[in-house]
Amino acid sequence: MKALVIDDSKAMRTILAGILTGIGFDVFEAENGLEALEQMKKVTDLSLALVDWNMPEMNGYEFVRKVREHDAYRGTKLMMVTTETEMAQVAKALDAGADEYVMKPFTRDIILEKLDLLGLSLD
Ligand SMILES: [Mg+2]
Repeated sequence: MKALVIDDSKAMRTILAGILTGIGFDVFEAENGLEALEQMKKVTDLSLALVDWNMPEMNGYEFVRKVREHDAYRGTKLMMVTTETEMAQVAKALDAGADEYVMKPFTRDIILEKLDLLGLSLD
């Protein structure tokens, strides 16, 4: 399965990509929502996107709204990766079509648990 990690922090992308690669995902990365939309034109059959909230160019909320405008991306699960201070806004993202969220700081186990909830566990 393929996953896209979208975050303007390289350190955060590396952590998330490491977890996903470790359980067998093919992982792609993007620095912001715009770059992620470009990637999604090329990478087909994307099962999952992990979406940061605060990013330049296009933030996570705008990205979710854009993706959910397209039927072609209906099969892609969207999980927000958010800080506690952004929690109030998570409801907005879920309304816009995000499927799950995870709060920073997270552990590998929490990510795996969320993937399970989304029906994306690989084992
Ligand atoms: Mg950020």
